[in-house]
Amino acid sequence: MSLQSSVRRDASQILTELVKSPKRATKYKKAYLTSLQVDTTQLTPLRTLSMFVEADLTRKQYEIIRTSNKKLYSCYSVLQKEKRKCYPQKESYRVTETCAEIELQHLLDHTVTRLLTYLQDILTDLTQEERNTLELISKWGCDGSQQSQFKQKMQNNDATDSNIFQSCLVPLQLVCGKNKKKIIWQNPTPSSPRYCRPIRIRFVKETTDITNSEINYVQNQINLLKNNLFMNEGVSASVRHSMAFTMVDGKVCNAATQTTSTMRCYICGATSKQFNDLTIKKVVDVEALAFGLSILHARIRFFESILHLSYKLPVKKWQLRSEADKTIVFREETGLIDMPKAGFGNTNDGNTSRRFFSNPHKASEITGVDFNLIYKLKIILEVISSGHKVDLKKFADYCLETAKYYIALYPWHPITPTMHKILVHGATVMEIALLPIGMLSEEAAEARNKHFRLYRNSFARKFSREECNVDVLNRLLLSSDPLITSLRPKPPKSSKPFSKEAIEMLIAPDVDENVDNSDSEEQVEEKADESEDEPWHSSSS
Ligand SMILES: [Zn+2]
Repeated sequence: MSLQSSVRRDASQILTELVKSPKRATKYKKAYLTSLQVDTTQLTPLRTLSMFVEADLTRKQYEIIRTSNKKLYSCYSVLQKEKRKCYPQKESYRVTETCAEIELQHLLDHTVTRLLTYLQDILTDLTQEERNTLELISKWGCDGSQQSQFKQKMQNNDATDSNIFQSCLVPLQLVCGKNKKKIIWQNPTPSSPRYCRPIRIRFVKETTDITNSEINYVQNQINLLKNNLFMNEGVSASVRHSMAFTMVDGKVCNAATQTTSTMRCYICGATSKQFNDLTIKKVVDVEALAFGLSILHARIRFFESILHLSYKLPVKKWQLRSEADKTIVFREETGLIDMPKAGFGNTNDGNTSRRFFSNPHKASEITGVDFNLIYKLKIILEVISSGHKVDLKKFADYCLETAKYYIALYPWHPITPTMHKILVHGATVMEIALLPIGMLSEEAAEARNKHFRLYRNSFARKFSREECNVDVLNRLLLSSDPLITSLRPKPPKSSKPFSKEAIEMLIAPDVDENVDNSDSEEQVEEKADESEDEPWHSSSS
């Protein structure tokens, strides 16, 4: 009443409101405090950059968004400062109009620094001995792809920008201790390009010589790698590196092993004529086993071999000689998705083949190829791409069984080289692999080709070819930065449950206290239940 009489109407009204019920005052206070917070809290530069990268924003887009709430989003120059932390030191760059690269040692030093910054808390909890025996296991590889040609003139007239050949690496696991038992960090998405760090990009066309010189070039740098010494907030650590050369496709493997024929196995040298005779035991090239299984390509090649089987089913011949044969096959071919693409291979990609194997019933119906065979191949693909440890004995048996099954059904069509590689050498390859084979896939590097195209078109300055390359390289570094990537919101899991047969061949991961084991034993069990209505089981064959 006294407030009202002194003409302080608002204060009077609020006071009346506040004492209406016992809890009202607390609610008022809370609402008032949150309103204050919203107004003054600014996103940290790191958070802002994380959003910037995650949403693939350009500077212009960011500035438009910023005008909506200048208090929340910091000024672009702050973001630029944060961005610079994602790049290794200037001296490690070497950029010309046809090449952009970062010295491997510097790239790894920078990767480790960013990763350990993210892991600072875990690092502090380790013993000094553990911190001195850290080891970062990475995979690396190289691949070529076509790119759009820019109209700008090159200083060197012979050079062209229609193709690139790039090598990159993906950190997979940080372990410590002498027996490497303790896992400190594990890449949650080893097939995603988000941790894929660029080593070198050159505007050249992929040939055997180029591939081999690239492998030598990176391998030489790997041999000279020194331990990385990390120091932050009084905590020191030493990290050594192991690199597995597994992000490769068949082309690179053939080049590296001097295998000139694509119909020959680069591991044992058998030719396609010998593939169907499982009794032939050839000497295995141990070095070639280290290339992994190229899982993305394996799926595509499996899919193609089923298609080719399907075309040739009416004539039951492998190589077509007469014109009459070809007409029959051509008729069968129409209506399918197998289109050749000018210049490189065909249009069969990972997604088509994934769809194909996700429904073996339908696949068998369309192609006329035996359902059980498609199903068995699907199981094998599931096992090798799972990222879990595999029971090698069971897997080898299953592969052998599948190979025998194939030969019994289609003796007139030899097993394809990729199928031979996996069915015959798969278990041996897995045995010597540093990590579960699914983690070593080449998918991340493949996706980087697409990114290169995108970043070059939309995120790079165009007034000079060199500056353009610097910008692309920086964007690749930015989008693969371990600290930024670790901060991003976890993408929802869309993976399908494993089939029962696949689970039988997998070994459940050890539950380690430091690793986020989202696929722990319990979940694997659950998945087994879900797939129980699967109409067909390997035991019934
Ligand atoms: Zn072989």
